[in-house]
Amino acid sequence: ARRAAVAGWSGPGRTADGHPVEILANVADGASARAAARAPVEGVGLLRTELGFLGRETEPTVAEQAAAYGEVLAAFPGRHVVLRTLDAGSDKPLAYAGPGGEHNPALGVRGLRLSSDDPGLLDRQLDAIAAAAAATGGEAWVMAPMVATVAEAEGFAARVHRRGLKAGIMVEVPSAALLAHRMLQVVDFLSIGTNDLAQYAMAADRSAADLAYLTDPWQPAVLQFVAITADAGLHARKPVGVCGEAAADPLLACVLVGMGVGSLSMAAAAVRPVGARLSTVTSQQCEDAAEAALSADDPQSARAAVRALLG
Ligand code: PEP
Ligand code: MG
Repeated sequence: ARRAAVAGWSGPGRTADGHPVEILANVADGASARAAARAPVEGVGLLRTELGFLGRETEPTVAEQAAAYGEVLAAFPGRHVVLRTLDAGSDKPLAYAGPGGEHNPALGVRGLRLSSDDPGLLDRQLDAIAAAAAATGGEAWVMAPMVATVAEAEGFAARVHRRGLKAGIMVEVPSAALLAHRMLQVVDFLSIGTNDLAQYAMAADRSAADLAYLTDPWQPAVLQFVAITADAGLHARKPVGVCGEAAADPLLACVLVGMGVGSLSMAAAAVRPVGARLSTVTSQQCEDAAEAALSADDPQSARAAVRALLG
């Protein structure tokens, strides 16, 4: 029956009782955005802008960047596209951005931190995004990766708002989750990156296969950070989504919705399984599943409890 539901589901995202959940795509460039636009998604929840420029030795010009971002916006006319500013460093090194040679790059100058030494890099990228939005008429939302303090969020939001765009931050550092309510006083939306949030909450390298049991997004401590963030969004009445791998797990997606997450952004391949699963459960079941997952002591018992509730 579940396979039939996957085949039959064609969007938009909603629970069995009609509670809307935006299903969005994670994309890397124009080609992947055009492919994702063929799936039943309502927009883009994460454009990883660094992925389009991984092989470059030098910074792409504002015009080159605007063309690249414009392709993604053009693939989703009339729908919103969340562009993430450069997340260079650690697992995504860029030759033209970042200090390099750091002893511990995952905890180093990466993501938004690059802009304290080199504000021009971020300003040129924001100029390119604003130009692409103006040229395509697209609805560009802009967010920063690796934000740890309210001051960082405030500084970033000011630069984005100056260009007339919506500003948000990724919640992928535990400090940002704990301060989500404060962050929401200075930004328009939050997007939870469970891949890094798990890495930093559990002090375990996300790329180490032998530590995957710790970086499992079903870890109750990781889920607590997600719940705190989702709750802050409900109180502030501002959008909070999840764009990490957790959103691509159909069972965990139900838990996230039960916590109050309003959008789920994922690789295009996960869209139908997640959308179909959500369409079979009520919002009350999702809330019960969230409570059960949060009160488990480990990922295995969290999964088992949620499976027992959702079938
Ligand atoms: C995340 O950290 O969960 C995320 C979505 O960003 P990335 O995987 O690109 O670090
Ligand atoms: Mg991340």
